[in-house]
Amino acid sequence: MKIGVLAFQGGIEEHIHHIEALNCSAIRVKKVLDLSEIDGLIIPGGESTTMGKFLDFSKLLEPLKTKISEGMPVWGTCAGMILLAKDIEGLEKSYLNAIDITVRRNAYGSQIDSFREEVIIPKVSNKKLPLVFIRAPFVTRLGKEVKNLCEIKNNVVAAEYKNILVTSFHPELTDNLDFHKYFLSML
Ligand code: GLN
Repeated sequence: MKIGVLAFQGGIEEHIHHIEALNCSAIRVKKVLDLSEIDGLIIPGGESTTMGKFLDFSKLLEPLKTKISEGMPVWGTCAGMILLAKDIEGLEKSYLNAIDITVRRNAYGSQIDSFREEVIIPKVSNKKLPLVFIRAPFVTRLGKEVKNLCEIKNNVVAAEYKNILVTSFHPELTDNLDFHKYFLSML
């Protein structure tokens, strides 16, 4: 089993570290050919507009959409969630259009409004999970068939639809491996 991490920008190495800590191999995905090697993909946090441009330049956008619609598990953290969303508030365009949610970018404010929470997400673990929010988005509309996995301050911050998982927060920036374990269980 091999997990790809979209490797243009953002928290790439931290995700690779967590996947390898679970004895699974991880590769950096930058070009269309890389897609044929992987069984699942993580889209890390970073800057969604920058990563969106790289998806265009690299010609990865359409082949990636196809792989996702064929059922390849994909997990977007923070900017990754924005790239997977069907709608982005205030923008005409979306990127991968894979999960029927609307997201609000920088929904909690700027960098200094970053925060941590500890909550139990029953589907993922029966222990409290540390959640780190950095210029995080949240979900402002959840499609009918999309599962709400977690709410913080009355806003949805983790959701799932079939093979697609999205989180506003960054499990890769904590020592906890439960979210990565959960993603591997989707494969
Ligand atoms: N605010 C960033 C964006 O809009 C996301 C921040 C993050 O990934 N930590 O893309």
